[in-house]
Amino acid sequence: MKKLNLVFCLYFITISAFTQEVKPVKNLIVMIPDGTSIGVYSAARWYNYYNGKGDTLNVDPYLTGTVTTFSSNAPIGDSAPTGSTYATGVLQQAGNVAIYPEPSANDLYPVDASRTYQPAATILEASKIEKQKSVGIVVTCEFPHATPADFSSHYYNRGNYKALAPQIAYQNLDVMFGGGTGILTDDIKKHFTRNGTTLIQDDKEAMLGYNQDGKVWALFGDRALPYNIDRNPDKVPSIAEMTEKAIQLLSKNENGFFLMVEGSQIDWAAHANDAGTMINEFLAFDEAVKKAMDFAKKEGNTAVVVVSDHGNSGFTIGSRDCPGYSRLSLEELFGAVSNYQLSANGLESILAKNKPEEIKAIFKKYTGIDITDEELQTLISSKNYKEADYMEVANSNNLAHNIVNILNSRTCFGFTTGGHTGEEVLLASYHPEGDVLKGNVKSRELNRYLQQVSGLSSSLEELTDRIFVKHDEAFRGLNYTIDESDPDFPVLRVTKGKNRLEVKAFSSVATKNGKPFDIGSVVVYIDKNGTFYLPAHLSEIF
Ligand SMILES: [Zn+2]
Repeated sequence: MKKLNLVFCLYFITISAFTQEVKPVKNLIVMIPDGTSIGVYSAARWYNYYNGKGDTLNVDPYLTGTVTTFSSNAPIGDSAPTGSTYATGVLQQAGNVAIYPEPSANDLYPVDASRTYQPAATILEASKIEKQKSVGIVVTCEFPHATPADFSSHYYNRGNYKALAPQIAYQNLDVMFGGGTGILTDDIKKHFTRNGTTLIQDDKEAMLGYNQDGKVWALFGDRALPYNIDRNPDKVPSIAEMTEKAIQLLSKNENGFFLMVEGSQIDWAAHANDAGTMINEFLAFDEAVKKAMDFAKKEGNTAVVVVSDHGNSGFTIGSRDCPGYSRLSLEELFGAVSNYQLSANGLESILAKNKPEEIKAIFKKYTGIDITDEELQTLISSKNYKEADYMEVANSNNLAHNIVNILNSRTCFGFTTGGHTGEEVLLASYHPEGDVLKGNVKSRELNRYLQQVSGLSSSLEELTDRIFVKHDEAFRGLNYTIDESDPDFPVLRVTKGKNRLEVKAFSSVATKNGKPFDIGSVVVYIDKNGTFYLPAHLSEIF
């Protein structure tokens, strides 16, 4: 009986969390400092204070709680499943981008096996399709990286940019600012010509000067943007500049807008255990938070949610190498890191181009550190190449990692891992009527709030069931074949009498009797079950 009471009690707590009145607003901005543990907020705040820039972060007045970051089958999250849960309300596994997961022996909550691999509609898609809002994404990583993909594409494997990049392009975003010129394909560029997207590449002035009404993509760099601390401000925009510009363009739509902003590389610096770069990246993100909050408060009909997607690196202020924790001064804790003017990767790229006898002076110039002869030997004997995989920097013997070790040896910061961690992350929430999200919030509840505050008339699950129907159900009774002559982009052909429909994987443009038309949402092909997922209404065009 006691157990039953507890079950009822939990049931009503859950229901009340979901039925709480939230007043819908016109505009919604979701901001994700990727892989940012609470210690980074604290360190950034102290760093500012030590450097005479006040003791309050821009995000501070809006902190309202914490959010869980587990996957469907693991307590420690990853950007693909956790960002996808924020976007869709569906728990999923590592690797998954906005789809329903496979059942697994380690599932933490029941998984609906009948939906495995079905794309799950995102808050961005619903904002566009249901509310005719403008939609935008601002990131500092390459555009098909996990977090931007979570909101604008669907696939079981976050690493498959061939499946993700075209979907993001065919999503017909109003604004995309980020990295990845090298990922654009001829087909994507052709689509931009067709759908009236202005493509700006490596041209900050053109991005800031863009004021037309059409869609715009501005990309900087072959893949990601540089770390903010290494950024040339004349050529590459800050995340705050991109956010401000995106808001200015998106807010032209009288139906409102949805914008997702990601501080993508706080996570990468955490993977590398590069404390100075984590702090700098977070502070750059915090400037973007100010832009969003300033707009929201002035505009009066905008909600903002700021939430990381998982912890990373076990970062602490204080470490076992610095005894006497309560006697450590602000200077001892934040003096050295305040002299670091480049990321370890940025310093690496300079050192790698110089002779061994110049290393000591260069190191001193950019970090304030007089390295020892022993440290010099370690640097010289490093594997003298750039670690291509940012997730491996903390685990390898390359030059950047050895630089990080020297930088960290002069601080009292602690790291327990070069990977993600499973604790809750901080939540900040702003709503013009005070209907903020608060408490320790489950990631699915966060999505529920995003749906409510967007004023959606039907749930994301209902939208999923409209726009992601299996082709054999949508076209039951008709003749159809799947042409896999291009294995990356299979084509579904459906015929009825003289009429012929062709739908290409990862596109939103189909053809009827050779004539192209806009489907209204992206079509996803999953090779694991040989299934196209597409809108039910396509069967009615014959
Ligand atoms: Zn992440």
